[in-house]
Amino acid sequence: MITLFKGGDVYAPEFLGRQDVLVAGSQILAMAPEIKQPSEFPVKVVDASDCIICPGLVDSLVHVAGGGGEGGFTTRTPEMQLSQATARGITTVVGALGTDATTRTLTNLIAKTKELRALGLNAHFYTGSYQVPVKTLTQSIEDDIILIEECIGVGEVAISDHRGSHPTTQELMRLTSQARTAGMLSGKSGVVSVHVGDGETYLDPLHQVVAESEIPIRQFYPTHINRTEALFEAGLTFARSGGVIDFTTSTTEQILAQGEIDSAEALARAVREGISAEHLSLSSDGNASLPVFDKAGVLTDLQLADPKSLLDAVVRAHKEHRVALPLALTAATATPAKQLGLEAKGNLAVGSDADIILLEKESLKLNTVMVNGALFFAQGEVLKKGVFE
Ligand code: ZN
Repeated sequence: MITLFKGGDVYAPEFLGRQDVLVAGSQILAMAPEIKQPSEFPVKVVDASDCIICPGLVDSLVHVAGGGGEGGFTTRTPEMQLSQATARGITTVVGALGTDATTRTLTNLIAKTKELRALGLNAHFYTGSYQVPVKTLTQSIEDDIILIEECIGVGEVAISDHRGSHPTTQELMRLTSQARTAGMLSGKSGVVSVHVGDGETYLDPLHQVVAESEIPIRQFYPTHINRTEALFEAGLTFARSGGVIDFTTSTTEQILAQGEIDSAEALARAVREGISAEHLSLSSDGNASLPVFDKAGVLTDLQLADPKSLLDAVVRAHKEHRVALPLALTAATATPAKQLGLEAKGNLAVGSDADIILLEKESLKLNTVMVNGALFFAQGEVLKKGVFE
């Protein structure tokens, strides 16, 4: 129950230098340059001197119960298994339905979220669907958010996409204010995760809601902003207006060839454009399908999105695109945690939840993963798996 990480370079995600980190139960009890090993009770000591110590990754969009299906029933994607997150450095996931809210259901998504929680992962879900009016469990966005513990917001609601329902400003305004009020009443973010397609209205529907209502821009959490050059530019404007934008780390060669900006590069470019890391986020879109459509809208390729792309993108942003490591980490830890209203997540501090990962210095290879004080991965070995893995 008590673990002492000795002598790692701590990125909290800001750089704090060489520190020992003492974990008791599920929380960080102390952080200091030198913590003496208590002798009164058993302590597991982890030598972290060859590692950096940072917060576990917070993945704000994962299709944990499967998604996809744009190529017919054979292309429905599988559920995510526990170690697909934990063995990739992800300690918190938020699940969502996707294009298909008919054969994929909220009841199944809730059950999957409960499964992941029972196995020890931090798991939440968004009520709703691509299409508006959104699907809910109780026929009410407010009731879902207020009464279902695991439900923290609404999403993915699709805008500017041929697979969405092209919601009106009024429709978006109403569902967002419902989510916001329900979040306030239940101590949650009530955030609205927005899937943004490649349509030429880009983020305009969200700007219209903000212009015509009292809803703050941060109530929205638009994702896939690296989908095209034009959407990326629209995203920078959205971030400069105070919003948070999210880049999707899963991709394929074909999608990049069609004009998507690699997420690590998008993060680097946004930082160079002067956007603060507090407005920049990365998510894996894990277990989504990655469909490629040609100019006529015909599906030409479809692959499975992998949660492991999240840590890969953080590492590549730093190593290949020279983003300072604290900034690259912030986009996958502190920023999503704050946007999701998960205050004890996404940072290392006394009193924070002990969601901790160790990366080997230089290579930044994943070495150790702790979730709420329990080890799930150590020295490259998976310690805990789902029942059917
Ligand atoms: Zn999406």
